[in-house]
Amino acid sequence: MKRVRVVVVGAGVVGLSTAVCIAETLPYCSVTIIAEKFSPDTTSDGAAGILFASEFHDIPREWQQRWFKETFDHLLAIADSSQASDAGVFLSSGYQIFKDVPWDKKPFWSDFVLGFRNMTDRELKRFPEHKFGQAFTTIKCECSSYLPWLGKRFIEAGGQIHHEKVTDLQKLAQMYDVIINCSGLGSRFLVKDEEVYPIRGQVLKVNASWLKNFIRDGDGMTYIYPGISHVTIGGTRQVDDWRLEVDTADTEGIMERCSQLEPSLIKAQVIGAWVGLRPGRANLRLELEYLNVQGRHVPLVHNYGHGGWGVTLSWGTALDALGLVRQSLFEKPPSAKL
Ligand code: FAD
Repeated sequence: MKRVRVVVVGAGVVGLSTAVCIAETLPYCSVTIIAEKFSPDTTSDGAAGILFASEFHDIPREWQQRWFKETFDHLLAIADSSQASDAGVFLSSGYQIFKDVPWDKKPFWSDFVLGFRNMTDRELKRFPEHKFGQAFTTIKCECSSYLPWLGKRFIEAGGQIHHEKVTDLQKLAQMYDVIINCSGLGSRFLVKDEEVYPIRGQVLKVNASWLKNFIRDGDGMTYIYPGISHVTIGGTRQVDDWRLEVDTADTEGIMERCSQLEPSLIKAQVIGAWVGLRPGRANLRLELEYLNVQGRHVPLVHNYGHGGWGVTLSWGTALDALGLVRQSLFEKPPSAKL
C-alpha cells in the first residue's frame, strides 16, 4: 500500500533522477512528477552532458566529490551495460588544456574519472598556445536519450506524470505529503529565490564524424565534444542573459575559437545551433524545509541550482534528496519556516 504522496516539480535531469531514486527505493511512496516542460524541451536536453565540474566554493569538497563519484559510477554501470545505446551514455576520452598553468592541477574529481594524468609535451605540441593539459576518460551522457530512458524507468517503478506549470506550492501541499523542488532556474519564480540566475550557453551541432576525442579549454569558453550523431562545439557563459535566441556573433565566435583548436572543423557542416540557460547559483541548494499548510507541516526538499554541472552531479544530488525525504518522514518537523 503506497501511503505517502510525493510530488517532484521538474523533469530535467535533476528532477527525473530524483523521482527515479525515490520511486525505486521507497515502496511506500507514490511519486508524481509535475513539470511545465519535458524532454526534449528542458535545458538538460541540450547540455553536452560531459561529466566534468568546477567547484562550488562554499560547499564541502567531500560532498561534491561524493556527488560526482556517485553520478559517475551510476552512469559507468549504464555505459558498461546493454542499456548504453538506449540511454545515450558512453565513455569519452580527451584533453583539458590551459594557456596558463592552473593553481589546482588536480581537480576535485580527478580520482573518479578514469586514467587522469598530465599531458605529455608531445601531446601538448598539438596546442601551441597552451602550456599545460590533463588527459582523462570521462562519461558523456546525452540527455536527449537519457531523459526518455529515465522517464521509462520512472513509469516502470509506478511513477505518474502531469504536464503543468506550478505557481503555488501551498496549493500543492494540500494534495501531497512531500514536495521536492527540482525546478532549476524556475526556482527564481516558484520559491522567489533571487540567488538563482541564468548563465546563457550557446552551442553548435556539427557533422565532424572524424573527431573522436574531446578538447576543452580550461577557461570553459571553448570546447569540442564528439557525440553519438554529431559533435557539440561551444560555447558561451553569459551571466544574467535571458535571451533564448541564437546569436550570430556567438555562432561566429564559437566557430573561430574551436577551429583554432581543431583546424579540421573549418570543413564541418553546421547542422544546428542551440541556446540554454544554466541555473546558476553561488552554491546549489539541497535542503529540507517545511511548509505550514492549515496546521500541517509539509516537507519541502529543494534540489536545484546546479549551474553548468547538472548532468555531472545529477545522481549524487538525487541520492541526497532521497535521504532528505527519508529524514522528513521519520523526524518531527521543527517549527515551520514558511
Ligand atoms: P532543467 O533541465 O532546466 O529542468 C527544470 C525543470 O523544471 C523543467 O522540467 C521545467 O519545465 C521545470 N519547471 C521549472 N519551473 C516550473 C514550474 N513553475 N512548474 C512546473 N515545472 C517547472 N551540465 C553538465 O553536467 N555537463 C555538460 O556538459 C553541460 N553542458 C551544458 C551546455 C550548455 C550550453 C548548457 C546551457 C548547460 C550545460 N550543462 C551541462 C548544465 C546542465 O544543462 C544543467 O545544469 C541542468 O540541465 C540542470 O538541470 P535541472 O533539471 O536542474 O534543470
